[in-house]
Amino acid sequence: MKVYMLNPPYMPHFGRGMRWQDTGRGGTLYYPIWLSYATALVNKKHETRLVDAPAWNWDRNDVIDDVKKFKPNLIVMDSSFPSLNNDIEVAESIKQSYGADLKIVLVGPPASQFSNEILNSDGIDIVARLEYDSTIEELADRLENEENLEDIKGISYKENGEIIHNPDREFTNSEDLDKIPFVSKVYKEHLNVKDYFLGSSLYPEIQIFTGRGCPFHCTFCSWPQTLMGRKYRVRSVKNVLDELEWIQNNLPEVKEVFFEDDTFTIDKKRVLEFCQQYRERGLQVTWACNARVGLDYETMKEMKESNCRLLIVGYESGNDEILKNIKKGITVEEIKNFAEDAKRAGLLVHGDFIIGLPGETKQTIENTKKLIKETKSDILQVSVASPFPGTEFYEWCKEEGFLITEDPNEYLDENGHQKAIITYPEITNEEITEAVNGILKNYYLSLDYIPRAFRQILRKQGLAEMQRLLYSAKMFLNYLRGD
Ligand code: SF4
Repeated sequence: MKVYMLNPPYMPHFGRGMRWQDTGRGGTLYYPIWLSYATALVNKKHETRLVDAPAWNWDRNDVIDDVKKFKPNLIVMDSSFPSLNNDIEVAESIKQSYGADLKIVLVGPPASQFSNEILNSDGIDIVARLEYDSTIEELADRLENEENLEDIKGISYKENGEIIHNPDREFTNSEDLDKIPFVSKVYKEHLNVKDYFLGSSLYPEIQIFTGRGCPFHCTFCSWPQTLMGRKYRVRSVKNVLDELEWIQNNLPEVKEVFFEDDTFTIDKKRVLEFCQQYRERGLQVTWACNARVGLDYETMKEMKESNCRLLIVGYESGNDEILKNIKKGITVEEIKNFAEDAKRAGLLVHGDFIIGLPGETKQTIENTKKLIKETKSDILQVSVASPFPGTEFYEWCKEEGFLITEDPNEYLDENGHQKAIITYPEITNEEITEAVNGILKNYYLSLDYIPRAFRQILRKQGLAEMQRLLYSAKMFLNYLRGD
C-alpha cells in the first residue's frame, strides 16, 4: 500500500499545527506535527511519502504532479478550520486529475465537527475524527487487504451514497505513546528541519510531543475539544530522553527541541524526574516547552539547570473577570508571580495574550496592557480571539449573537493573518484587531524592548538568539507593512 501524507497547499507558510492557525506574524512555521506522528506509524508497514506543501511553497499543480509520480493508493490530508474549503478543493482537484481508485481521508480538527459536510464533497471519501494516528494505521492495513471499513473506530465514510459514522476511537494511553516511533526520525527522513521556524526557539528547532491532551477547560482552546481530548497521557521519561539523545546524535544541526505538549509542566513529579535523568545522561541539547501559570520556582530552577531555555505560557488576559469567564483557572496575581519566578530562575518567557475574549471592553484591554508592561515577557504574542467550532467559546458567541460569520474560512485576511470575527456591544471586531496590532507595535518598537532583546543576546547561545531575533523582527516589519 502506498500512502501519501499531505499537508495541503494554501497560503505560503500557513501553519495548520498552530494554536491560532494563520501565516504567523513573526515568520513562524510549524512542522505538520500530527501528520508526522501518523506518518511514523504508517511508515512501519507501508511505503509512505510525507509532503509539506506550505513549507515547500508548493501549489496544487505541484502536488498533483507529485501524486502522479508517487501513485498512492491512499492520501491522508490534514485540514484546519480557516483552510477547510481550500483543503476540500485540493482533494477534489487531485481526484479529478488522478482518478477514482484513490481513497482520500481528511484528518484534523474540522473532521470531528463537520464530518457530514466534508463527506458531501466529491473529494473526500473518509474522515478520521479526533486523534487519528492509530485510525490511519488501521485504515491503511484494512484497505491493503481489501477489508471493509465497518468496524474501524473513529472514521466516517460514504457507502452507496450514504454517510456512515462508526463509533469514536478511544484516545491513546501512555503505553501507546511509547510505541510510536520517534517523530524526529520522520522529520529527518521526509522533511528539512531548516524549513521550520518558531519565533521563540533557537534555529533550527524540532517540535515533539512528550504527552498529549489537556485536563483544563479553557473555553476558547480548540485542541482538547476538537482533537486530543482532556486526559493528559505521557510518554515514559526514558522514551523521551532516548529521543533527545537520538536527535543530538543524528541531527547535530538542531539547536533546540520544543515540547509541544499542551502543558508539559502539569505533572511536577514527572518534570523533576525528567530533569534529573536528563542530567544523569549528560545530554546537551537545549529544550523549551509550553508551561502553565502555577509552576513553582523550585521546578523552574531544576528545569533551567537541565538546559531548559524558555517557557511559553498562556497569560491570556490582565483582567480576573475574563480569566474566570474563560475558565482559565489562574489569576492576575498568579501570573505576576510566575513571571517573577521565571526571571529569577533564569528562564526566558514567551507570554501569550488574547484580545476579544468574553467580557472584553476597552477598560479590560487597558488591564491587559498594564499586565504586559509589568510582566515584561521576553517574547510577546498577542492574538485575536478566534472562536473555533467545537469549543465552548464558539457556542457562547453563537448563542449570544456575537459571531459576524459562522464560516471559519472567513477567519483570515488576504495575507493569511487572523481577523476578528466577533463583535461585542462594548467593542467591535475592528477595535479588537486594532488593539492587537497596537499592543504588538508598542511592545516591539519601543525603547523598553531593547534591554529585553539584549538579555536574550547575552545568553549562552547569543549568536543563535540574535539570528532568531533578527529573522522575527524582519518578518514582523513585513507584517506591519502589509507584505
Ligand atoms: S491549559 Fe492551555 S492547552 Fe489546556 S485547555 Fe487551557 S489553553 Fe488549552
